[in-house]
Amino acid sequence: MPTRKDRTGRHSANPHAPIDRERTEPLRPPRAPIGLPLLPSGRIALPAGNPCEGCDHCCRYVSIQIDTPRSRHDFENIRWYLLHKNVSVMIDWEGDWLIQFDTPCEWLVEGRCTHYELRPEICRDYDPAECERYAGPGEKVLLRTPDDLERYLSGRRGKSKSE
Ligand code: SF4
Ligand code: SF4
Repeated sequence: MPTRKDRTGRHSANPHAPIDRERTEPLRPPRAPIGLPLLPSGRIALPAGNPCEGCDHCCRYVSIQIDTPRSRHDFENIRWYLLHKNVSVMIDWEGDWLIQFDTPCEWLVEGRCTHYELRPEICRDYDPAECERYAGPGEKVLLRTPDDLERYLSGRRGKSKSE
């Protein structure tokens, strides 16, 4: 997911700014979630200053909610998605299914948004207190490969037999 970031001094509204096609490092290098205290309101107490300093994870993927798969045909489609590079499927904590494409935003250059003034609404609205860095993984189940899907389905079959 995109984010709101304080990138003062490095922002540009230039639509011809260079893009980051030559990136060779992992798409989303692992970064441990940061354990921070909860406020009485239930929100995470973010650190002082720019909470996004040193992080750009949410500018490196797109995720879209999909229909909950119910039939063999639906799960075959999920298997097809997972056969593609950098595509994963997840179930979030509300039980919704999402497809995720790990692919950096073209406006992300060296960890900064090069078109900050033009960033989409979703980037402006994203709340770091709810992001993976601070709040932990956004998914209850993460399927990265067809084998993950097979294990997930076997687990479900095993569970329904024992009920
Ligand atoms: S537009 Fe900027 S803030 Fe939004 S995802 Fe791209 S780089 Fe990140
Ligand atoms: S994942 Fe969180 S900390 Fe990292 S850039 Fe996005 S909102 Fe900021």
